[in-house]
Amino acid sequence: MQPLSAISLHHKRKLIVSFHDLHPGTMECCARFLQRLETVGVPRASLLVVPNWYHQSPIARNPELCDWLQQLDHDISLHGYAHRAGHRPEKPVEWLMANIYTAGEGEFYKLSVPEADMLLFQGLELFRQAGIQANGFIAPAWLMENEHIPIVEKAELSYCVTFKHIYDLKRLETLYAPVLCTTSRTRLRRALTRQVVSGLARKHRNEPILRIAVHPVDFQWPEIEHFIFRLIEQCLADREPTTYQELVSHQLFEGAGKNHSAEKQIKVVGKETP
Ligand SMILES: [Zn+2]
Repeated sequence: MQPLSAISLHHKRKLIVSFHDLHPGTMECCARFLQRLETVGVPRASLLVVPNWYHQSPIARNPELCDWLQQLDHDISLHGYAHRAGHRPEKPVEWLMANIYTAGEGEFYKLSVPEADMLLFQGLELFRQAGIQANGFIAPAWLMENEHIPIVEKAELSYCVTFKHIYDLKRLETLYAPVLCTTSRTRLRRALTRQVVSGLARKHRNEPILRIAVHPVDFQWPEIEHFIFRLIEQCLADREPTTYQELVSHQLFEGAGKNHSAEKQIKVVGKETP
């Protein structure tokens, strides 16, 4: 198989913009973001929809959001079930991940396969009731276990995604795709995040696939919103916008394995770096 870097010489570098945590309470924020996104040259984004936000908002009970999502020409991902972690990690490092890194939102982190399978099924069932078609699955905070990948494939979704990788479940390929994501939860984070993300953008500027992920909380702060759009415009200077679904739909990566089972290890294309 050709390495990703060799194949990508024939293709323009890609940029995926994703809006996380879409639910009835963030629909207006998302709509405003998509409008502005289009004006800077990104016609489609990947939207991460939570089917039952904090167990309080089953999506089918919100016809306005369902109607809106059904008529949108964007890529829709199932983003967990309730976006709340229900398990109680016992090891210190797991406790830190569950409570500090994700603020209690690492819903699929350290879940057993049957538990993950059940949550995935319940989330897709809520989507089905709402008439919404998901193309892929992205766990809250990008935290899922390798053992969860086959159940996403079994659910006939096209991709799943972690902090470093995009898993193409049709070709069973793993694509290295770093993500740039501001963090706006605290004053300290807001003070540091632009510098950190700018540094990462420089570090990853030659990667074939780069992602920019935004969260509704980012738009409470004009300086963060301004930074995000400037970053998107800078990336568009030498990248073309795409979505997760478009990326895995196109025959971009020739020679990918076919007729494999996800039980086998998915091959890593591109480099493995932090
Ligand atoms: Zn999320």
